Amino acid sequence: PAPRYKDSGTTIFTVMSSMAQQYNAINLSQGFPDFDADGRLGEFLLEACSHGFHQYAPMTGLPMLRNEVSEYIFSTQEVRVDEDAEITITPGATSAIFTAFTSILQPGDEVIVFEPAYDSYIPNIEINGARAVTIPLSAPDFSIDWNLVKDAISARTKAIILTTPHNPTGATLKPNDWNTLAELVRNTSIIIISDEVYEQLVYDNEKHTGVLQHPELRRRAFAIYSFGKTFHITGWKIGYCIAPPVLTNAFRKIHQFLSFSVNTPAQYALARVLQQPPSQPANILLQQKRDLFLSLLGDTPFTFHRPSAGSYFQLAGYSRISNLPDYEFAAWLTKNHGVAAIPVSAFYRNRKDDKIIRFCFAKKDETLKSAGERLKNVV
Ligand code: GLN
Repeated sequence: PAPRYKDSGTTIFTVMSSMAQQYNAINLSQGFPDFDADGRLGEFLLEACSHGFHQYAPMTGLPMLRNEVSEYIFSTQEVRVDEDAEITITPGATSAIFTAFTSILQPGDEVIVFEPAYDSYIPNIEINGARAVTIPLSAPDFSIDWNLVKDAISARTKAIILTTPHNPTGATLKPNDWNTLAELVRNTSIIIISDEVYEQLVYDNEKHTGVLQHPELRRRAFAIYSFGKTFHITGWKIGYCIAPPVLTNAFRKIHQFLSFSVNTPAQYALARVLQQPPSQPANILLQQKRDLFLSLLGDTPFTFHRPSAGSYFQLAGYSRISNLPDYEFAAWLTKNHGVAAIPVSAFYRNRKDDKIIRFCFAKKDETLKSAGERLKNVV
């Protein structure tokens, strides 16, 4: 049978990680840490099993986990959220984003998307019969030109999806961005989907500013988070969505028939670990890694415009090395130099080739150093 959604190939993260494996390359492509997670997670998983947490969790998420999430949001963002009416635990943030779109979109609706955009957004919109209206982030800092947003808003605009810290550019939104957005949507029924999975990873003494902190926008927003990023456990595939009760109701109507509920022992373990957060915040560790990676990159022919302000990704230009289109360059780099990265044109609907690739620096120092050695010799 013909697939329901024909417009996409295989996601670039699968393509590049498979290629890295095939050529035994250092994998700085798909975003995941290669260092150990908090050892207590394993102990708490065993504890969950010995306490009999084997059956379905409630559809909305384990109450003890939703309670810890609400405390976590208060301690990190100083915002109170209702753990019963506003938090839903999901099998990963990708699923939460799909669920949020599916819960609000009708065929013919438009969604404003900023490019480069995470690769699932536009397919999610199109699978729901809606249309993505793309706006380029502005060079050189990948900031949002709010005049373009104003022009793009139409009577059909159902939602705007934003990402902060941004994947793949590492740019972050500032309080003023949220204020401007609030003005633009004030007399509309536009819904905001805010992908904040890298909220912990903000560098250089900046603080994450998310949609929940804006009282006016919060009333019309889905905010989406990921334990995979917070605890360096991307394979656990657990995230959550925070939204006001009306949107949470709509969200759960889809969630209950898509996923129903999420792995119970893992939810228990996450709740336990949230009770005593790790002593070193993740941004301290990851900022050191970013700085190490940038100093290594300085000895290579790659260029970068500015250090990543958040997320665990760094963009780098390769025009001093090659004229190849970025997909071909990424494949060549993997096969011939043993380092895998993501071609940034994968984040555009109509591939825009600026000769930039994305590296993930959430890796052991020794991994980064070995990659640095290999990248030095790229000619
Ligand atoms: N978010 C991860 C990245 O940007 C990839 C997740 C995935 O592979 N689906 O690399």
